[in-house]
Amino acid sequence: MPVLPIVRLGHPALRAVARALSPEQLAGAEMQQLIDDLVDTMREAHGVGLAASQVAAEIQVFVYESAGHDIPLRVVVNPMITPQERELVYDWEGCLSIPDLRGMVPRHPEVRVQGLDRSGQPLDYLCRGFEARIVQHEFDHLNGVVFLDRMRDFKTLGYIDEWQRMGDGEGDESAVG
Ligand SMILES: [Zn+2]
Repeated sequence: MPVLPIVRLGHPALRAVARALSPEQLAGAEMQQLIDDLVDTMREAHGVGLAASQVAAEIQVFVYESAGHDIPLRVVVNPMITPQERELVYDWEGCLSIPDLRGMVPRHPEVRVQGLDRSGQPLDYLCRGFEARIVQHEFDHLNGVVFLDRMRDFKTLGYIDEWQRMGDGEGDESAVG
């Protein structure tokens, strides 16, 4: 399966609003291949999530998975996200389209996810914590938003290798998608 190039900040696809897919488009061989390629690209890049926008496909699809957090592979098409609590929690994030940087990002601790799976069946589930963070990060990509836009304090922004060189654990457990 081909691993696709991940575009970086500056590419217009990362600032575009992605289009919803019709059931016919989703069922097509081309789209099913793209979904397989998204999964392979995410795994090759050691990310926990990847949105189609990040491979310059402006369509509403993202994938995510984290073995370390017991999160099985999910493919989410035409997503709608509803926060379940008003409160926001801060944790580290990074982005495959903004390589090597990490920062503290506020996110809702629990969200409801509605959409379609890759076979067009409805999805409707709740997720919390690390999974909710990944989902919000990927959903943002489909709306042209990156984690930097969500940050409240850029003093927490830094290069992961600078922290590692100082033996600092900062950003080690970040959600990178
Ligand atoms: Zn990202």
